[in-house]
Amino acid sequence: MNKKMLDILACPMCKHHPLESFELDLKNEIIEEGALFCVSCSRFYPIIDEIPIMLPDELRNKKQDLEFLKKNKDSLPEKITAHGVPWHL
Ligand SMILES: [Zn+2]
Repeated sequence: MNKKMLDILACPMCKHHPLESFELDLKNEIIEEGALFCVSCSRFYPIIDEIPIMLPDELRNKKQDLEFLKKNKDSLPEKITAHGVPWHL
């Protein structure tokens, strides 16, 4: 996703705006891999293959969330990795 999209994206669960972004792979202002974080409800949304995956809790893919956190646990801030995915419980 283009970093400019941060100006318009809001959290799908609590509608908070703006979201924080953490880039794992950034090329020419395009976030190829990274995470979006909502400071209001502490949810994160993965960005995989340039696509921000912003789904409400009931549609999230738990396996994908856990694999994403595991893979990037050393690169993402603790506020994202420490909470895990409690909204799946
Ligand atoms: Zn939120």
